Amino acid sequence: MHYPSIEYEYPLFRPPSEANSLIFQITSGCSWNNCAFCEMYTQKKFKIKSFDLIKSEILQFKGYSEKINKIFLADGDAMVLKTDKLLQILELINKTFPNVRRISAYAKPKDLKNKNIDELKSLKNAGLTLVYVGLESGDNELLSIVNKGENFDSSLQGLLKSNQAGIKSSVMILNGLGGLNYWQQHAENSAKLVNLIQPEFLSTLVLSFPFGINHFKQKFNAEYVEMNILQLLEEMQLFLSKTELNQTVFRSDHASNYLVLKGILSKDKQSLLEKLNYTIKNPDKVNLREEWQRGL
Ligand code: SF4
Repeated sequence: MHYPSIEYEYPLFRPPSEANSLIFQITSGCSWNNCAFCEMYTQKKFKIKSFDLIKSEILQFKGYSEKINKIFLADGDAMVLKTDKLLQILELINKTFPNVRRISAYAKPKDLKNKNIDELKSLKNAGLTLVYVGLESGDNELLSIVNKGENFDSSLQGLLKSNQAGIKSSVMILNGLGGLNYWQQHAENSAKLVNLIQPEFLSTLVLSFPFGINHFKQKFNAEYVEMNILQLLEEMQLFLSKTELNQTVFRSDHASNYLVLKGILSKDKQSLLEKLNYTIKNPDKVNLREEWQRGL
């Protein structure tokens, strides 16, 4: 029996909520690849896969087509592709997998901003219903320090446009990104940004240092002062307290988070803040991850 196989170019990343999705790697790497905090694709040169190769990979799964209902398009910013090419891929996916109910991809805000509303609507109508966007922060000074290549306005415009087209968004804010020198402005401006976007999904991840903190400090274009766990939680407390969201699913439960926070904002905002307040006041009584407790 012939089993389908795809020759992925590793490393390959996907959002946790795409664990059961079939992944087609229509690009490799990230076309920007310059963010100070991100090492996901630094080993890869950005490439766009040929349509012929993508087609042969999709068609390999024809025999399993009934079972496939979620598809994720990798890598880091698949939405950078021209709309025509994305539509060609989406059409083939729809033809091959009649039961597909969600196609999603990572996107940079500028990828969304650079497409016009009709293009975004045509992508939505072709099945692309969710984009994952790393906003990281709403603070312009910090976004510039970490070389994000985006600012408050580009992020807002990109996300408002995709919202208007009916594409749902799952946005991420990076806890600890500014360190002790920037945490307040980071928390406050990030809340301002998400309040204006009103995303369907919001998550926070904690800044990590896969190549060590000194490597990160060299790429951070200012003085970076590391935060301890209580300070990171205080940043979360300030951020959440400033959010004014109507119906956003909030998740702070990635492996990098020390305290699991989940709920609907704003319905659960008060109880999430109470949990944070209690943890900050009673760190010994809360089951925080051990390695972080050592750093308190
Ligand atoms: S745009 Fe995203 S994937 Fe690309 S370097 Fe920045 S954080 Fe990483």
